[in-house]
Amino acid sequence: MATIEWRSPASEMAVRQFEVAAERLNLDGNVAIRLKRPDRAMIVSVPTRMDDGRVQVFTGYRVQHNDVLGPFKGGIRYHLDVNLGEVSALAMWMTWKCSLVGLPFGGAKGGVACDPMQLSRNELQGMTRRYTAEILNFIGPDVDVPAPDMGTNEQVMAWVMDTYSQHKGHAVAEIVTGKPVEIGGTLGRKEATGRGLVYSIMEAAKHLGVDLSRCTAAVQGFGNVGSVATKELASVGVKVIAVSDRTGGFYDPKGLPVERILEYAAKNPELSGCPFGAPISNTDLLELNCDILVPAALGMQITGENAGRLKCRILAEGANGPTTLEADDIIKEQDIFVIPDILANAGGVIVSYFEWVQDLQNFFWTEEEVNKRLREILTRAFHEVLDISERDKVGMRLAALMLGVSRVARAMLWRGLYA
Ligand code: NAD
Repeated sequence: MATIEWRSPASEMAVRQFEVAAERLNLDGNVAIRLKRPDRAMIVSVPTRMDDGRVQVFTGYRVQHNDVLGPFKGGIRYHLDVNLGEVSALAMWMTWKCSLVGLPFGGAKGGVACDPMQLSRNELQGMTRRYTAEILNFIGPDVDVPAPDMGTNEQVMAWVMDTYSQHKGHAVAEIVTGKPVEIGGTLGRKEATGRGLVYSIMEAAKHLGVDLSRCTAAVQGFGNVGSVATKELASVGVKVIAVSDRTGGFYDPKGLPVERILEYAAKNPELSGCPFGAPISNTDLLELNCDILVPAALGMQITGENAGRLKCRILAEGANGPTTLEADDIIKEQDIFVIPDILANAGGVIVSYFEWVQDLQNFFWTEEEVNKRLREILTRAFHEVLDISERDKVGMRLAALMLGVSRVARAMLWRGLYA
């Protein structure tokens, strides 16, 4: 972002994307200058007692980009690469994503630089509770509501909820979303991002006149988003030919046995050793000849170097920021229909919104109701973006950003500058 503190490849990518959308929208310069940087950011030290008795100090972050539309909302990421610039970029994308799908939320993100796979359950719990305590005055049910992201899950959200509740002296379910159903989570949240991704792929297929039962797919990342997307793709008749996680991938051009891989993943922390298909690297997976490519792991996987070798028809971005600016320029020249991250993976925050609403009302919905409303919102957003893309002759990514940014800008102009 403009100042050096935020600078990182991810934040520069997010800011540049914003600048292109702002230019195209002829955005008010005073609004644009503010939106290039977050409202506020917090860096915390997270001392954690390790199992061997040592204290290890992790670095944690919470960045709040803009709350003109409502409370901040955004996940907590546990990954070694977490840093202020990456978290700031992710917070900015959350602002556009919430606005794009019409949620009354602003964008935030948090994280701790750590490798959760190397931590015991005890260490993970201690680190999570201390991180929550450090950001406690920064978050709140009507201030900033965290959720899961890479490296975190419903157990981590339960510890966040419990720590916050212990400090307040009573149960505060609405402080976090993506919780287990037993403590105020919603049905359908765990599946929401992968399921929403497939709803948007279904709309894209209809638009392109593609029959999904004749399509093949490759999915990078087999965590929450990738595994559910794989399952849902298979359930609508798509042949999944490759899946992967951080240990590498498995490929079978005749189609992988999805149910059996899901069973394997439920019993093992990683896919390595999975007995199905032939091994394939994460980089080769992206270049497979397939109809649908789903990056659902890290950002910046599709770059200026490999974008020209993609052979998919639909690129459905489950991950946040998987495609660099250079890659985007190359993809534009190819016959690839992009469902951009802020649209494709918005299912997670949409159902998080449902969870927050249910917690505030203490009135819970059926899973059918959750899925029906999720599909309605995503389908509407998909067509709004498609209409802008066709009307203004811009790609789907720019159209999605234009829609998200313009709503935020209009709200800022209504509210005016408090000075
Ligand atoms: P997760 O931690 O559940 O799973 C991440 C997966 O990626 C794991 O299978 C891991 O092994 C794999 N991975 C890690 N490094 C890799 C590498 N270098 N190459 C290939 N695979 C690698 O995380 P998740 O919640 O599924 O999130 C995945 C992506 O989706 C992230 O970019 C996240 O920001 C985005 N996202 C998640 C949600 C959500 O609701 N969880 C919502 C929107 C977007």
